[in-house]
Amino acid sequence: MAGVYLHIPFCKSFCSYCDFYSITDSSSKEALVRAIIDEMALQSRYLEGEKVDTVYFGGGTPSLLTVEQTESIISAIRKNFSMGSDPEITLEVNPDDVTAGYFGSLKAIGVNRVSLGVQSWDEKRLRYLGRRHTAVQSARALELIFSEGIKNVSADLIYGVPGMTTADLMADLQKMFTFPVKHLSAYHLTIEDGTRLGKLKKEGKLNETDEDTSNSMFTLLGNICRDHGFIHYEISNFALDGYISRHNSSYWMQVPYLGLGPSAHSFDRRSRQWNVSDVKKYIRSVSGGEVPFIREELSRLTIFNEYVMTSLRTMWGIDLAYVEESYDKELHDYLVNLSDKYIRYGLMRREKNTLVLTDQGKMISDNIIAELLTEL
Ligand code: SF4
Repeated sequence: MAGVYLHIPFCKSFCSYCDFYSITDSSSKEALVRAIIDEMALQSRYLEGEKVDTVYFGGGTPSLLTVEQTESIISAIRKNFSMGSDPEITLEVNPDDVTAGYFGSLKAIGVNRVSLGVQSWDEKRLRYLGRRHTAVQSARALELIFSEGIKNVSADLIYGVPGMTTADLMADLQKMFTFPVKHLSAYHLTIEDGTRLGKLKKEGKLNETDEDTSNSMFTLLGNICRDHGFIHYEISNFALDGYISRHNSSYWMQVPYLGLGPSAHSFDRRSRQWNVSDVKKYIRSVSGGEVPFIREELSRLTIFNEYVMTSLRTMWGIDLAYVEESYDKELHDYLVNLSDKYIRYGLMRREKNTLVLTDQGKMISDNIIAELLTEL
């Protein structure tokens, strides 16, 4: 199985926390769609022998594409790759791009999962985050999604925003669960260099959320989601049974994927490659018959470390039998020995032949993962 990711690098404006590659000038939208389709033809052998099980339109803002442009990309994927029988096709949507009929049209062209960037139900916090939509628009978008027949709906939420309290998070979650969303991606805000919030931080004008509040929020988030029947299947991701994101899970399980579009990344189990983060250069190069990417061949240890890093963030944890079979006994024993102290401290559990983080361990997952990475 394999995945296809499409990076649609246009945004009407930049959010204050975001460091993804995007541009506000969308005059090259049509040319970009053509280039992405051309790139497919150039990369059609990248996933040879694999069936495409998931397609994910991310960005940027994929909902800035017209339905016709989105359809032409999906048709080209079907033409250039071998598709699985029931592919998951997700499109990220910004609430302010939605009009009546939009989701029905998406459904008609094969999109069967929508990820809506709600981020917050508080108007003031939305302004702080630089989101251009309102909470009212998010509610309207969710109503339209369900009334137009898309059931598999994920919503994004950001917590840990400066000044935000656990009561604020509670209010956001309560509002979210008044809608029948099936999946929730809830990320703690990280302040990245090069963003507007990063600049405020440098100038000493921003008080980041303290660790105790962050931990309380994380605990609250887990409890409320559990109360609503959601499975906490990855540090930042929750889903009802049957609605775990197949696309994201495949990243964590080292399933190969092809990223198309400027700044998109690809992985084929041996190497990682990423396209140039420049729309104009990308279009020029692809129309000249060449995909502009940089490739890094991955050593066995790099792939192993990536497996540890991603799998430990999930509820499935590190599969020790897989480590022994796919790598060797030495790396298996290394993990077993090192995990001992975390198990004693109640930060990790050994379940059958897997190593899984406990709720307490999840709070310091970055530290634990950093210690488990090896240069053996
Ligand atoms: S968060 Fe999304 S909408 Fe906001 S700037 Fe980043 S990619 Fe664009």
